[in-house]
Amino acid sequence: MTYRGRFAPSPTGPLHFGSLVSALASWLDARAHEGTWLVRIEDIDRPRTVPGAADDILATLARFGMHADEAPLWQSRRMARYEQALAQLKPTGRIYPCGCTRKEIADSLLHAHARNTTLAYPGTCRHGLNGKPARAWRLRVPDGAAAVIAFDDRWQGRQTQNLATEVGDFVLKRADDQWAYQLAVVVDDADAGITHIVRGVDLMDSTARQIYLQRCLGVPTPRYLHVPVVTNELGEKLSKQNGATALDSDRPLEALSAAARHLGLGDLNGQAHTTLDGFYAAATTAWGRRMGVTK
Ligand code: GLU
Repeated sequence: MTYRGRFAPSPTGPLHFGSLVSALASWLDARAHEGTWLVRIEDIDRPRTVPGAADDILATLARFGMHADEAPLWQSRRMARYEQALAQLKPTGRIYPCGCTRKEIADSLLHAHARNTTLAYPGTCRHGLNGKPARAWRLRVPDGAAAVIAFDDRWQGRQTQNLATEVGDFVLKRADDQWAYQLAVVVDDADAGITHIVRGVDLMDSTARQIYLQRCLGVPTPRYLHVPVVTNELGEKLSKQNGATALDSDRPLEALSAAARHLGLGDLNGQAHTTLDGFYAAATTAWGRRMGVTK
């Protein structure tokens, strides 16, 4: 099998313990499959991107011994490709311009909530803009049984989501003219030939949307594995926003061992606590065994 995996950090700050866990899981899965591991910098959400953070993340990965097998890919350099994907969808009638403001959507969701009905985007602009200026582009999701997307997650088991009732027609290009994460991630994974996606479980809610978009664009669906995320004392996902501290690049083995324990690999033995090579050898074996990897 040709295995191609990736780690796709958003450069909103330095690598922290939570993102190290995702990086390590994707690295170990690629190594256990004797596959290729890539890094993609997801720097298209301009308001959230912190200057210098991407280089910092790449340097930290290198200090921790995780070297990508190909040059890192930068989403900010791929705008033309996203435009092409949108253009591919236009003649299919699957996408439409949306003129709703955030406030209008929030109000209609509030009403829906009060009526105890769906919290999905109500499809207001499906049949035309009603004189409103176009702000965003949305992908029409199917109705009925076709709206149910199912997949077998390698860690979390069988997942299903009803796109019509739980999500609604979703945004591919935002009102601020920025590409939505859902579109960029699907186009990039497909172009890079990614076969296996390993990432935090906080992103699992996006997976059904991504599978549906893959089908619309006629690209293959990779296998998915969503690892548990690291939380703080309040049970919130550890993130740069809630005070996760940068990793200590001078002591990579400590953080890596803790990340391996978080991934259920237990206490590794052999050379795992002495050298990076020793750690990766022990951790790759443990991961392969735990995940039932056969090459
Ligand atoms: N850039 C996303 C994040 O840092 C990850 C996207 C993905 O792995 O699909 O949360």
